[in-house]
Amino acid sequence: MAILGYPIKHTLSPKMHNYWLKELNINGKYEAIKTPVQNLKKTIKKLYKKGYKGLNLTIPLKEEALKYINKKDKIVDITGAANVLIFSKNGYIEGKNTDVYGFKKSILDLVKNKKRKMAMIIGSGGAARAVLYVLIQMKYKKIILYNRTKKNAEIIKKDFLKRFSNDLKTKISCKDLKKTKNNIKQTDLLINTTPMGMKNFPNLNIDIKDLRTDAAVFDLIYNPLETKLIKESKKKGIKSMNGLDMLIYQAQRSFYCWLNKTPKITNKLKKILEKEIK
Ligand code: NAP
Repeated sequence: MAILGYPIKHTLSPKMHNYWLKELNINGKYEAIKTPVQNLKKTIKKLYKKGYKGLNLTIPLKEEALKYINKKDKIVDITGAANVLIFSKNGYIEGKNTDVYGFKKSILDLVKNKKRKMAMIIGSGGAARAVLYVLIQMKYKKIILYNRTKKNAEIIKKDFLKRFSNDLKTKISCKDLKKTKNNIKQTDLLINTTPMGMKNFPNLNIDIKDLRTDAAVFDLIYNPLETKLIKESKKKGIKSMNGLDMLIYQAQRSFYCWLNKTPKITNKLKKILEKEIK
């Protein structure tokens, strides 16, 4: 197995998967392979021939990968992104999106017993689509997509309305990233799905002064473990969560997709990853 992406230097996936392979006494390895978009097709072909069980994909390949899969499930279809490829013997490549699973598993605890009237999603890329899909399943009444490029948020809205047709009970709206102030008081959940706040990136520039203390904050970033957004939320006594659990759960599900075994998520593994980040 391997993860493909560009850049790929700081990925934690090999650490997790190789840890699990060892724990479960499975003879195999998981690598990180630097793959620019233009090399994706030939790299998939090469690794398939070499007998790899499958691959993980990260930025910027999750959307591009759709061109090379023979079978996709509903989640890949709606999110427009696959972060897992499964190579089967008959020459078929199946695409899955385990970011959705990872996000769903980790957010449940964060919003337990909290109101689900309004959620704000910052960003409108692949991760935002996974988040939106889960929040709709969780029956949030209103979800606002805030993005630097409003048009990209509108494309997501359009795609979702089309896919869900008349079944959508959630109201989705799209706004400019600069306008978060107008709705922050009413929101029950604020989620950052942009890379802002990540190591070597500028911080996410939003004012959470008016965010209620009974709201919740989820930042998909896990490096650093505490972004400015998480730090400020903690200071205000707002329940918050970083993206590390999501990352681990998506990996656990990926492992299952290839090997039909669910590896254990232990404190020991989490400590190893946290140490790697620090
Ligand atoms: P993506 O498809 O490239 O989308 C990036 C989004 O961030 C876009 O909406 C983009 O806005 C916005 N953005 C980028 N730079 C910005 C800036 N300078 N100011 C304001 N907005 C900016 O990326 P993605 O796949 O959604 O991933 C986004 C983040 O989520 C990454 O940091 C990734 O590491 C994280 N992630 C974490 C997990 C996890 O397991 N924890 C899983 C998936 C993703 P425009 O539309 O205007 O370009």
